[in-house]
Amino acid sequence: MHAATAAERHAGWPVATSGSRRAVQTYFRLQSPDTPPEALLVPAHQECAPWGGGRTGPCDKCRGAGRTGHGCLSCLSAGRDPECPACDGRVRWKAACPVCRGTGEIDARVRHGISVFPRVEGLLEYMRRRDTDVDGSVLVELEGIHSDDADFDADEGALLIVPTRVVSVRPL
Ligand SMILES: [Zn+2]
Ligand SMILES: [Zn+2]
Repeated sequence: MHAATAAERHAGWPVATSGSRRAVQTYFRLQSPDTPPEALLVPAHQECAPWGGGRTGPCDKCRGAGRTGHGCLSCLSAGRDPECPACDGRVRWKAACPVCRGTGEIDARVRHGISVFPRVEGLLEYMRRRDTDVDGSVLVELEGIHSDDADFDADEGALLIVPTRVVSVRPL
């Protein structure tokens, strides 16, 4: 990705982007207004509870097949982005199941990172599919680096990041 040089930034020139590409990728999540978003920057909080509460056994996401169809909810809801950090523009593809990592048995480890979507539309579609009541939630926009772990819902285009900065917080 093109990064603006210091000279460009200091001169106030527009940052060159391909298409509508923003200079820095940000990510979105919803959370309760009672939780200070800065808490996401604390390493002790950058963990994702295990699938199914730590239970083991046959994987119920892929029914033991090890591979599963992936669909990027951000690209499906808001249009294909060839540089999408969740799908690289593939939108729909087949890959190892993110819960069992292809083994067919649940990998119940805690995963490192915070669950996010690269676009708000994908996040909202994810919540809608789960009938999650999002009223009263705040939308938190983050910068961060990708975790080495895959999100349990990577098959829907969710990502795990280690947040480095809270960019914005706004009521939904
Ligand atoms: Zn995508
Ligand atoms: Zn699986």
